[in-house]
Amino acid sequence: MHAKPHPDSTRRLRWLLALPKLGVVLLLAAVVALLWLLHQNEIEEERAGLIKDVLWLEQNLRFHLGNNEELLQQLAYDLGNQADKKQLFRLRANHLLKNNPDMMQITWFDQKQQVIDALPMAPSIDHELDAFGPPVTQKAIELAGRLGKRVYSEPFFLSGNGAHFSLAVPVFADQQLSSMLVVTYAIDSLLNDQVPWWFAEKYRVVVIDDNEVQFGAKSSIEGVPSLTYELPFDPPGYGLKFRVTAYQAPGNPLQRILAGAILVLATGVFWSLWIVRDLMKKRARAEEALRAEHALRSAMEDSLTVGMRARDLTGRIIYVNPAFCRMTGFSSDELVGRSPPMPYWVPEQFNETMAMHQAVLAGEAPADGFEMTFQRKNGERFQALIYEAPLIDGHGHHTGWMASVLDVTERRKAEELARQQQEQLQFTSRLVTMGEMASTLAHELNQPLSAIASYNAGCINLLAQADHNPADIRQALEKLGVQAQRAGRIIRRVHDFVRKSEPKRAPCALSEIVEDCIGFVEPEARKRHVQLVTTLPDLPPVAADRLMLEQVLLNLIRNGMEAMASTARELRILGVSANVSGNEVVVAITDNGTGIAPEIRDKLFTAFTTTKPEGMGVGLSICRSIVEFHRGRLWAEPHTDSPTGSGTIFKFTLPLEPS
Ligand code: ADP
Repeated sequence: MHAKPHPDSTRRLRWLLALPKLGVVLLLAAVVALLWLLHQNEIEEERAGLIKDVLWLEQNLRFHLGNNEELLQQLAYDLGNQADKKQLFRLRANHLLKNNPDMMQITWFDQKQQVIDALPMAPSIDHELDAFGPPVTQKAIELAGRLGKRVYSEPFFLSGNGAHFSLAVPVFADQQLSSMLVVTYAIDSLLNDQVPWWFAEKYRVVVIDDNEVQFGAKSSIEGVPSLTYELPFDPPGYGLKFRVTAYQAPGNPLQRILAGAILVLATGVFWSLWIVRDLMKKRARAEEALRAEHALRSAMEDSLTVGMRARDLTGRIIYVNPAFCRMTGFSSDELVGRSPPMPYWVPEQFNETMAMHQAVLAGEAPADGFEMTFQRKNGERFQALIYEAPLIDGHGHHTGWMASVLDVTERRKAEELARQQQEQLQFTSRLVTMGEMASTLAHELNQPLSAIASYNAGCINLLAQADHNPADIRQALEKLGVQAQRAGRIIRRVHDFVRKSEPKRAPCALSEIVEDCIGFVEPEARKRHVQLVTTLPDLPPVAADRLMLEQVLLNLIRNGMEAMASTARELRILGVSANVSGNEVVVAITDNGTGIAPEIRDKLFTAFTTTKPEGMGVGLSICRSIVEFHRGRLWAEPHTDSPTGSGTIFKFTLPLEPS
């Protein structure tokens, strides 16, 4: 059965499921935000570190170049004022070159820009100076001469030796510009010398100008650039700048592991939530189905008209249904938990009820149910038909007894009424039979009465004679008495037959009953020219209600006689026989009549089935119920050996009294 989920519980479930999900999402968001903040912080720190380092580098270079400037300025001063100039130049220049590997050359020009001296004395440099250096260096020299102070040149490339720049320092003698000192720096060497190893480990330093032309670089790492910072490279200026690029650090492995773990855990939580959600959904569905099932069961229980009562193995009531409560008038609370004696037991039948109760608990209750009188709360009695069955739980354990209880009071009343009606019908039928037989009985009665009258007249005549013989009178009176008895018997039989009495079975001799019946129908048989033949062996007594059995026999005998109305007179023979078969007596009433009309054969024993114009059609149905009341059977067979070729044998059985 498919149960539709209750909208309320679905909403509640959705809420229940949404809360942890929301929690996990928020937690995840918080963790991600935290990681992002940490990362941001790191970048910030990195950036601050970078700026600090770059500033340091810039300052270092400025300091280095400034220091050299000072030394050169000193040399220029000394060259202007001292005598042995060449010697001095050589000494100092050598010293400078030795201490500064980035200085490629120190040249001393005179006023006409002719080289006075140069260190180191590399002709190629001279040549280079002539070829490439002069334009920018010359400009610097001119500017320095004009301004009377040191001036840096623009950077320039020397083929094969990379980028360089120069510094021109004017030499004054007696306040007059006398000559010019020019120092050429190689940018790569400058970087190599001045950028320390730890800096190169962390950053890549590039010297570029505004047009992104690269003049020098230093780095000992490779990888993905992350942060960059630029700072003017001044001196020498001219738009030169450092570009320092930080490389992505390999990252903190612990942090990565942590982030990974958080991710894995979050996925795990989501996954488990998913499973829990599934489980909860399944559970909700099952609960819903169970609820629907339970509702159906309760509805079924409530609408049951059969009382249900469950007891545990000790006989204590553990459940009663509404029908049982209605039946007994006690509420479920008053009954559940009760042990015997139960409030609905009838006090005066306590012992029998208790015995039955014990039998049920011992598992000996009759399987086809038993009847018991119970008492309602208002004291009213009712007849209960009870079926007991073992109560087996889901694990197959026997945990008690389940009873279904039917209030059969009304049914029993109806049965009693039907029985009474049937009896009334039998009685009526007897009256009808009587009425039908009245004329023949009157004729029958006439015989003894007229005999009595004639004996009486005879006696009077005899008495009138003087010499009458008393013996004759006695004889006549005796005969008269016999006739009177005969008449009395007829009257008694009629009286007996129509008397209404409760059926009671008692041992009686079948032959006597048959004889009585024969005596009863004889007058009618004579009138109908029917010969009655009885074949009765010595039979043991049968337990029967004499009157009822007589009614059956009379009915069957009269039916047989009536069926032979059109049979040849000499063949109108009606046989009544009986014989013992097993533990019962079979009585047969045989006629040579017309046989059962085919149209009524199937409903022969149904009431109001008749082919006779004045017939009531209840005779056979009454016969059958009487025979069944005696625990026997009644049926009809065709009389196959009949001399007329047709005829019927009605047979009924009666159980023999066990001796
Ligand atoms: P009724 O005699 O009032 O008709 P019964 O119940 O005694 O009612 O009989 C029902 C019918 O059964 C009769 O009308 C008759 O047709 C048929 N019947 C009964 N006994 C015999 C019989 N011995 N032979 C033929 N028909 C019979």
